[in-house]
Amino acid sequence: MEVINNLQDNLDLIRMEILNDNLVIFPTETVYGLGANALSERAVNKIFEVKTRALNNPLIVHLKDKSEITKYAYISNDVEQKLIDNFMPGPFTLILKKKDIIPSCVSAGLDTVGIRIPIDDIAHEFLEGVGVPIAAPSANISSRPSGTKVLDIKGEFENKVNYIIDGGESKIGLESTVVKVIDNIPTILRPGFITYEDIKSLIGSCNISNHVLNMVKDNEHVESPGILYRHYAPKTKCLLVYSSDLNKLKELINNNKTKKTIILGSNKLNDINCYKYLNYGNTVSQIAHNIFSKLRECDKLNGDLIIIEGVKKEGLGLAIMNRLIRTSNFNYIEL
Ligand code: AMP
Ligand code: MG
Repeated sequence: MEVINNLQDNLDLIRMEILNDNLVIFPTETVYGLGANALSERAVNKIFEVKTRALNNPLIVHLKDKSEITKYAYISNDVEQKLIDNFMPGPFTLILKKKDIIPSCVSAGLDTVGIRIPIDDIAHEFLEGVGVPIAAPSANISSRPSGTKVLDIKGEFENKVNYIIDGGESKIGLESTVVKVIDNIPTILRPGFITYEDIKSLIGSCNISNHVLNMVKDNEHVESPGILYRHYAPKTKCLLVYSSDLNKLKELINNNKTKKTIILGSNKLNDINCYKYLNYGNTVSQIAHNIFSKLRECDKLNGDLIIIEGVKKEGLGLAIMNRLIRTSNFNYIEL
């Protein structure tokens, strides 16, 4: 895999790679994407194959600017329009009614499509340069932590993808907020950097899907098929713990008798006796930025268990907890 450091000088190469139905990994402000021409079924199928992604897990379509949206989807009401006006471009995906030009493999047979317009400069240059909409999931093999830096991603896709465009570490580090307007109310299917509070203060109402923090029960209707699958997970077993009371949190951790316990948390926990301690940052933005790469780092330490410090489920903290609950496969204790 070749790392492209200067996109401007290599735009023709990258455009041809995409138009030849091959995959290109590109940076965005959220995480890196594994991109293909969204209008080509052949190219899109390669994403599912290379990522080993379930075929019923739909992909988000990335566009260069807002004027493109109605080429591929219908804006059906004022709430959708307002969300577009305020949160796009940015770390925000809106689920809209799909137009026929988008092949059904992109949306996994649904009549809707997720639309996102990244605000990152290199992502914009890439999307403008290739001239076609780009279907892209996060750049990681399915079930693994999302890719937020070139070194983490390169190993996973070596010999499978020819080019990765280097944009440095992803600024935000967590995937976009996914929203669908249901009965005129924005509903968060996946929390992200654009928060519940942001949407509520703009529209006046906002719902959060039940599945953001809870497991899907048998036969329950699922709005966002992605949540059916194992996600964001290192190979080492994880336990997620949260308490607003530091003493209780430490007690919880100290009660754990696993031999080689790795602690991944803030500097509040740096004095705990354990096999290895890794700091994931001390604010929610730092944690979001670092978390996926730190989980990969933990995996290299040959521990028996990773205990991850949880955060308060508000603001960006909701998105962090949504990811970590899945990282730990719902192995979660809150006191
Ligand atoms: P990823 O591509 O790994 O960032 O995940 C994309 C997320 O967006 C998954 O959770 C999908 O379920 C969700 N998604 C994409 N398209 C749709 C859609 N048309 N309807 C509902 N959820 C969607
Ligand atoms: Mg993903």
